[in-house]
Amino acid sequence: MRESLNDGLPGQFTVQVAESLTQALETLRTAADEVDVVLLDLSLPDSQGLETYRAVHAMAPAVPILVLSGLNDESIALKAVNEGAQDFLRKARVDGEVLPRAIRYAIERHRMLEQVRQLAVADELTGLVNRRGFLLLAEYQRNLAERKGTSLCLIFLDIDHFKLTNDQFGHDEGDRALRELAGILLRTFRRSDVVARLGGDEFIVLMADINGDGLRIVLDRVEKNVQAFNQEARFPWRLAISVGVARSDPAKPTTLESLMAAADQAMYKEKEQSRLAS
Ligand code: GH3
Ligand code: MG
Repeated sequence: MRESLNDGLPGQFTVQVAESLTQALETLRTAADEVDVVLLDLSLPDSQGLETYRAVHAMAPAVPILVLSGLNDESIALKAVNEGAQDFLRKARVDGEVLPRAIRYAIERHRMLEQVRQLAVADELTGLVNRRGFLLLAEYQRNLAERKGTSLCLIFLDIDHFKLTNDQFGHDEGDRALRELAGILLRTFRRSDVVARLGGDEFIVLMADINGDGLRIVLDRVEKNVQAFNQEARFPWRLAISVGVARSDPAKPTTLESLMAAADQAMYKEKEQSRLAS
């Protein structure tokens, strides 16, 4: 291996050899940061097969692994790839040309995957788009609206007294309330609208191309659907939300930030008013 690696461009790779799984895990435990890639033989004195891969991957999840397979463990090597190994290489075919290239690809692919993962745009709790996803999609819609000269509408929603729901019924029930509200919003809005959870008990919806009448109808539907949900009384808690709306004027393009701030402010005003009224 060492020879193959230094055949083409001597000195390009620094190789550290571990002769057992135990030794490999120890190296990774103390110095995973310094390792760009692991070349892994699945058959080691103290570990065999897929377990070898799993142990190494668990110790250093951020390090790409290239599995080296022999003649009779190719199907296991493939399984390792299915579980996240970057690739497998047949030991018999490793030479000074194949190996450096495979390593470079493995590192590159791994980096790309990490980037995509960091771009993850789903909110784990509700499955809605998260804040990052919302900003990406909304910015795209805003550009489109500006070019077409159409308006954009943002609806900001925040659950009322949600801390009390958590306090009275526990955090798990609070989580359930957030998921139920997400479901209500998905049922209420069109597929082309962007429905997102910004964080905590804050949700936001972006609608393109909607006029004042359409907006009233939609807000009405939100209210009716929340009421219907509360009447079903499937859970010990009820949902109450405050809503704030902001609409862009096609003649005066605005930034997404200022539109979001306006919807947020409108929401807080409504919250204050319902507090005064109650
Ligand atoms: P307000 O009527 O003014 O909106 O008051 P609130 O009690 O709803 O409080 P606020 O909106 O300021 O804060 C949101 C609360 O939501 C804070 C926290 O207790 C709760 N919360 C935030 N994220 C989560 C979550 O992921 N799960 C659960 N169960 N609760 C959360
Ligand atoms: Mg709240």
